[in-house]
Amino acid sequence: MQYNEKMFALGSRRSVIREIFEYSKRRSAEIGAQNVFDFSLGNPSVEPPKEISQAICDLLSEGDQTLLHGYTSAQGDAKVRGVIAQEITKRHGIDMPADLIYMTCGAAASLTITLRAICNEGDECVVFAPFFTEYRVFVENAGGTLVISKPQDKTFQADVADFESRITERTKAIILNSPNNPSGVVYSEETVRQICRVLKEKSAQYGHPIYLIADEPYRELVYDGIDVPYLMNHYENTFVCYSYSKSLSLPGERIGYIAVSPKMEDAKSLYLAICGAGRSLGYVCAPSLFQQVIARVQGAKVDVNVYRKNRDLLLSALTAYGYECVKPDGAFYLFVKALEEDATAFCERAKQHELLVVPCDDFGVTGYVRIAYCVDYGRIERALPAFSALAKEYGKQN
Ligand code: PLP
Repeated sequence: MQYNEKMFALGSRRSVIREIFEYSKRRSAEIGAQNVFDFSLGNPSVEPPKEISQAICDLLSEGDQTLLHGYTSAQGDAKVRGVIAQEITKRHGIDMPADLIYMTCGAAASLTITLRAICNEGDECVVFAPFFTEYRVFVENAGGTLVISKPQDKTFQADVADFESRITERTKAIILNSPNNPSGVVYSEETVRQICRVLKEKSAQYGHPIYLIADEPYRELVYDGIDVPYLMNHYENTFVCYSYSKSLSLPGERIGYIAVSPKMEDAKSLYLAICGAGRSLGYVCAPSLFQQVIARVQGAKVDVNVYRKNRDLLLSALTAYGYECVKPDGAFYLFVKALEEDATAFCERAKQHELLVVPCDDFGVTGYVRIAYCVDYGRIERALPAFSALAKEYGKQN
């Protein structure tokens, strides 16, 4: 065989989101982009904060350019890691040392590195449905097996009893993503406490730590003053996989980090395993320029009100048309019950109205679709008659 069959399968079968995104480009060329209501991709529509371009300009006009564009240490520039560690200490009250921070090319890299660092062949990794589809790829590529815990009906909070039943002696880690893609749910403090209680009990029962991987690219994108519990404060064996892709609208710049909890048993060895995993995956180092940019813009924020306004319009209109929606407390996705059992068939019907939304079967929940509302407000306004007509087709009165 000339190639690795698993890799061929991954490359030749695009994710459902990418598939729709490609369709959107073709359709836009045919009928004009303003007539295609594309809600498929989580690409932030809010501009990065002004501080970003200012920091880039300042960095490019001052200082040592070879250093700026050169390799950094594999784990990231020491000063940059120091700034991030200080910020974590300040915001979350954790005494975070710089030498437990590892700079990465975004959350995807943070997750693949962490999973590679801790998983051995046959280990299990529990995720909460609905979950980011790439978890399956990341876990399996690290030699692990993905185990799915079902959510509670309607609220899509984690179902702690179901979660507990999924843990076995082979469980190596769980991944918790809050605010959640695709549901927009923020796991409550009480849910987090219960999950951590189970983790502590099961770790003791099986005689080995079960790691908690907090996937947090949407931490800052929350509405109505909702608080997102910081998981290191609830559980010692926590890795925080962070990214600036969504929080600062920088998904193409590929910058994020892994923070290993200083309270983790044997934290230094796990950090070295992280370094080894980054090395084995060939990441070399995170982008130098953007490491420096990030160090200069701690505290900068995107305008979350733009997303909140989008959420409010979409949620109130769709509910009025007869759709059943989960109210998102964070991220920029609306999770909506399809108007027929088969979410893929429903999305095909939506396409007839030029509405591009994503079926959530691959996210581990059937019968639901995801609407990414990180788009300009005008697109939502223009799309509403199409959502209304689609609902009417299914006999909803509005
Ligand atoms: N985790 C979740 C839940 C996501 O939604 C995404 C991207 O959409 C990622 C990880 C990957 O983010 P990044 O672009 O920082 O690699």
